[in-house]
Amino acid sequence: MNYISTRGQAPDLTFEQAMLTGLARDGGLYVPSEVPVMPQAEIAALAGLPYEEVAFRVMRPFLGETFTDDEFREIIANAYAGFGHDARAPLVQLDSGHFLLELFHGPTLAFKDFAMQLIGQLFEASLKRSGDRVTIVGATSGDTGSAAIEAFKGLDAVDVFILFPHGRVSEVQRRQMTTPSEANVHALSMTGHFDDCQARVKDMFNDFAFRDEVRLAGVNSINWARVLAQVVYYFTSAVALGAPHRKVSFTVPTGNFGDIFAGYIARKMGLPIDTLVVATNQNDILHRCLATGDYTPDGVIPSISPSMDIQVSSNFERVLFDAYGRDGMAVAQLMDELKAGGFKVSQGALQHLQDLFVSGRASEEETSATIKAIRARTGQLLCPHSAVGVKVAQDHLDQGVPMITLATAHPAKFPDAVEAATGIRPPLPPRMADLFDRDERVTKVENDLAEIEHFICGNITN
Ligand SMILES: *Cc1c(COP(=O)(O)O)cnc(C)c1O
Repeated sequence: MNYISTRGQAPDLTFEQAMLTGLARDGGLYVPSEVPVMPQAEIAALAGLPYEEVAFRVMRPFLGETFTDDEFREIIANAYAGFGHDARAPLVQLDSGHFLLELFHGPTLAFKDFAMQLIGQLFEASLKRSGDRVTIVGATSGDTGSAAIEAFKGLDAVDVFILFPHGRVSEVQRRQMTTPSEANVHALSMTGHFDDCQARVKDMFNDFAFRDEVRLAGVNSINWARVLAQVVYYFTSAVALGAPHRKVSFTVPTGNFGDIFAGYIARKMGLPIDTLVVATNQNDILHRCLATGDYTPDGVIPSISPSMDIQVSSNFERVLFDAYGRDGMAVAQLMDELKAGGFKVSQGALQHLQDLFVSGRASEEETSATIKAIRARTGQLLCPHSAVGVKVAQDHLDQGVPMITLATAHPAKFPDAVEAATGIRPPLPPRMADLFDRDERVTKVENDLAEIEHFICGNITN
């Protein structure tokens, strides 16, 4: 299987090349040339298997010849060994017909660990074999960065530089990025919003001289291997509720459109997903675009669910590519228009998107009220992102089709919002209870490409 760029002008790559590259050289994102369909009997056979075995069976067809089966099994086993729950992604019930998929039992307490822990092991295995080194740069609204630093710290062939928006991540998120002491990981606190951090990362990838000099690699949610890792828990949870014999729906708290895109891939693979609900906070560009076709960013308004405070949603490009009949030129044109202010999705493409997704938004008040109500009714504490999902899911419940809402972070990662809503300050799990006592190491940088590139060149260890 090959990987092709959403803008049609970059060379086709293998899985391994696409994973190591991240962003395509034409500015596009890599997607598989075709999505393998899993026969219904094979989906049924996933019932009751350990998470790791489902992960192997779901992801294997996408890898081509990159790893042997034994190598890939070992990579998966290493990736999930550090999780704090043996089920990896346990399902709990909130209400009749409404379930919560807890994706926060990894080392940094957010769903990003599912992809990042795997990608760390994939990179390590691949680079060990080739003898190459890479420099990973990433932008984060908080959770990607902590997950990446945790997954790559101390690995031999990798240096990691993470840009996060100064003062706009939670203290737990910041400390998870700034307290690891390994010399190959660097947290950079940048003036600006997440979208600014993401823009500088894109600039570095488009600076080909720099890109080649430091052997740049990306692990943001644009990296195909990350999307792939997230496809797995759609299968484990749907099968637990009776798929493929019974349909299920999912609601996904969304920012960069990575997690929801993984659900879209799961459905393309044959998982009988009835409805895929996109849930946004007050930064609702995706909700507005799906309703009207108008994609015009209008500035980020900081919210209590900061990992979704996004106006430029990278992975949306992947689904636009399909909605435009895989016409890379059309996608490139839209992205040019976006640089100039925004774009309008064509009528045909919008119809296609509306057939695939429904959407909703939760205001700040609704998010807090949902945290409070769910605590009162079930005892479950939700992080604010998960609460956005639960609120929007409640607006889309359908008798007869179970709804699974993705719980994307542990409540202790966002204790202020949870405490404000419920009066309860959720404690960190015991395995990271000393986070607030560890020393921090962080570099403050301006929103300036040259300054950031200079810092990176001066601090790589190879
Ligand atoms: C990253 C993140 C999201 C948004 O996920 P996308 O894949 O970017 O849509 C939601 N909630 C939490 C806690 C996150 O860390």
